[in-house]
This record gives sequence, C-alpha cells and structure tokens, in this order.
Amino acid sequence: MARLQRIDGEVRRLKDDGLYRQAAVLSGRQGARAVVSGRPVVNLASNNYLGLATHPRLVRAMVEATERLGVGAGAVRTIVGTMEIHLELEEALAAFKASEASLVFQSGFTANLGCVPALVGEGDGIFSDALNHASIIDGCRLTRAEVVRFRHSDMEDLEAQLRAHRGRFQSAVVITDGVFSMDGDVANLPAIVDLAHRHDCAVYVDDAHGSGVMGPGGRGTVAHYGLEGQVEVQIGTLSKAIGVLGGYVASERALIELLTQRGRPFLFSTSHPPGVAAACLEALRVMEDEPERIERLWSNTRMFKAGLRELGFDIGRSTTPITPVMAFDERRALALSDRLLEEGVFAQGIVYPTVARGQARVRTIVTAEHTEADLSEALQAFARAGRNAGVLA
Ligand code: PMP
Repeated sequence: MARLQRIDGEVRRLKDDGLYRQAAVLSGRQGARAVVSGRPVVNLASNNYLGLATHPRLVRAMVEATERLGVGAGAVRTIVGTMEIHLELEEALAAFKASEASLVFQSGFTANLGCVPALVGEGDGIFSDALNHASIIDGCRLTRAEVVRFRHSDMEDLEAQLRAHRGRFQSAVVITDGVFSMDGDVANLPAIVDLAHRHDCAVYVDDAHGSGVMGPGGRGTVAHYGLEGQVEVQIGTLSKAIGVLGGYVASERALIELLTQRGRPFLFSTSHPPGVAAACLEALRVMEDEPERIERLWSNTRMFKAGLRELGFDIGRSTTPITPVMAFDERRALALSDRLLEEGVFAQGIVYPTVARGQARVRTIVTAEHTEADLSEALQAFARAGRNAGVLA
C-alpha cells in the first residue's frame, strides 16, 4: 500500500546492506543437539544453560498447573490477574536472591522497562555501562533522568564520570549487566559497588546471564562476589537458565511496592499463565536438587574454552559459558557461522550493530546438556570452518 512505501524501502535497504536477519527455525526441541533450519546440529546458540527448557519436572509442573488453573491469567496483575502461584514464585525468587522482596514481569526486557523509570526521574542521573543490554537502554530512555555512559567495565572512567556529574543529580544509580551477553565477561561488581556507594548512588545489576550460572547454587553474580545486601536492585530473567519465560526485580520492599504502583508493564500488560509460574517454581527446586547441572555447565565451559584456545582462536575476555570466537571482520564472522552450519554446528555470527564495527564474532554458548562428544565434535568443526573462513591461519 502506498502509505507503507517507506517501510518497504527500509526493508529493502536492510536486505541490500546485508543487515536483514533471517531467524533460524528449530524443528522439534530446544536442546544441545537440535534440528536448526532443517539440519541436525550441535546447538551452541541457546541460553538454555541448565537444560531446564525441556526438563520433565518442569514440563509436568506446567501441565499440572495448566490443567488445574487454565492457560491464561485473564487480566493484568492489578485487576484480577494475580494468582496465588504468582505470589509463591515471587517469594521463592526473593529467597533465591537473598533480597527482601521480588516482583515478576512478563520478560527480562519488560522488567528493565518497568524498573528503571520507577527508580529515577527528572533531575536524577543514570551511570550506564556502554555495553549494557538493549532493554536497559530502552528503560533509561523511558525516564526523564540524564544518562551518562561510562566505557565498558572501565572503573577509572566510571569514577571520572561520577566525579564530573554526580553533583548535578538528586538521586543516581549505576547500572550494569552482571554478565555481558556478547562478550561473556563479568562486571567488576566489587569496584562498582564501592565507587557507586562512595558517590551516593544505588547499584542496579541486570543478571540475566548470571542467574542460574554464577555463584553458589546459581544465585547470580552478586552472590558470586559475596555482595548480598550491597546491591540495591537485581534483575533476573526466567527465560534463560530457568528455562521458561519472564523477568523479575529483586530488591528492598519499598522499591517492589513502588513497582506495583508504577511499573508500567506490570500495571498494563497481562500476567503470566499459571503454568509459566509453576514451571519457574519447579526450576528453582530442580536447581537445588540437581546441583550437578551447574557443575557440568562449568566443566563444559572450561573444556570448550581450552579447546578453542588450543586451536588458536581469539576468544576475548570471557570467563563464563558465553564465549565469543573473534573474527573482527564482519564478512569473516558470517562466513565462519555459515561454514559451521555446513559442518553441523549452530553458532550465531554477530556483527554491527549488535557489536561495534570491526568486533564481529561468532558467539558460542555451552550448556550443561552438552556431552563431551558434542563439544569435541564442535571443536573439530571449528578447526575446519575456522581455516575455511580465514579466521584461523
Ligand atoms: N537483560 C539482559 C542483559 C539480557 O541479555 C536479556 C536477554 N537477551 C534480557 C535482559 C531480556 O531478557 P528476556 O529474554 O527474559 O526478555
């Protein structure tokens, strides 16, 4: 239609520039081995860190709650969409994060969209790591606060920005990912907490990739550093290690209470189906009952990283199950990902604008479900594909 011609042109431009992304399609289950775009592959792309997305106990919990309570909540939380099971999950998450209270949102994305604007407003400031997730950036945009970016994980720059700007703001918060999703590096939370508190700022950690992965019992990056009680706001997702869907804020009761009045996705978008809440609750129990999943996640991580290093790849500064295989050049990264798929490995090529120009890579994520045989096979594929795509000499 004529009125949408501009849109048509925009899509064509994306395709012409090679920036149009076609989503891979899974046939069957999410798993360490999967069928992606019609090919059986070793799957190194999911966030299903602990393999909980298909765990029989979670499936049973979801089915049982669905049969008992139905498929939908039927209203937003503040009307009549709050079920007992939603509250039970929030209590369990508060305990998991050693915080006073928690509030669940429909996704990690909406948790950030709801939480940042409730926390700061006109006259306030946000100090935000340059590589923070898109949902934090969008959450910041929804506030009237001023955003000051600091260079990624650069504590000298954070200190300089705090010194230069903190004085102008009433309230202020330092926001960082716990584990950065494209590089797999971990925020220097001890230094961030120290600097933030010295400059009278709250600390806000989005631990989407740290929860279920880092720290004792998978309690996250804050627990990994032993900083419980010192980080004012923790965001988690229920969509990655927990294996289901959703996001949450864990914090002091006052902020949680404010979010029930001001968190816009909480107020204006329907709550989770009860089956989702039931499966998330079961995930927390499985994590306690099967600690070997987290151990396997980390032994797989160590094995895979060592293998990639031995082959001669540059794997950046990751210390987590997210390992970037650096190609730097955009075309090489995409070629490496294509060659890997031909070799039976699915790992996504990541290029500008998701990462800076010249920082293109293939991102790999191992899970607890990968066997040693899966990872050895993947490493052999990396050796061949790496040479073929010109990433390895
Ligand atoms: N925050 C971070 C740091 C993330 O990596 C992601 C997932 N891409 C999200 C938030 C969003 O979480 P969800 O997928 O649950 O919306």
